Amino acid sequence: MHEMALCQGILDIIRERAAADGFSRVAVVRLSVGALSHVDPHALEFGFDVVTRGGLAEGAALLIDRPRGQAFCMACSTTVTIPARGEPCPDCGGHQLMVVAGDEMRVVELEVS
Ligand SMILES: [Zn+2]
Repeated sequence: MHEMALCQGILDIIRERAAADGFSRVAVVRLSVGALSHVDPHALEFGFDVVTRGGLAEGAALLIDRPRGQAFCMACSTTVTIPARGEPCPDCGGHQLMVVAGDEMRVVELEVS
């Protein structure tokens, strides 16, 4: 389950911020997980609970934003919104799409206490 490794990475980011900014508790962690990223938000929530146990982010609320996927359609020469990877262009039904947004995962903000 690669979400576990992702959660470990998130925790590393939180620790680095804590060291840099001098806080010791995190109340809310807000993530952006694009609809086209290969990340399962439910697995992420589970992994987050496990990796934060006993640390500075224990019990922190995990908020996950799901920005929509966007792709450039070669046939339409326009940017369209797609719900998932491998979906055809909603305008022309074509499959020559290049993902331009919604495939990233990042920490958007930390609310510290
Ligand atoms: Zn199209």
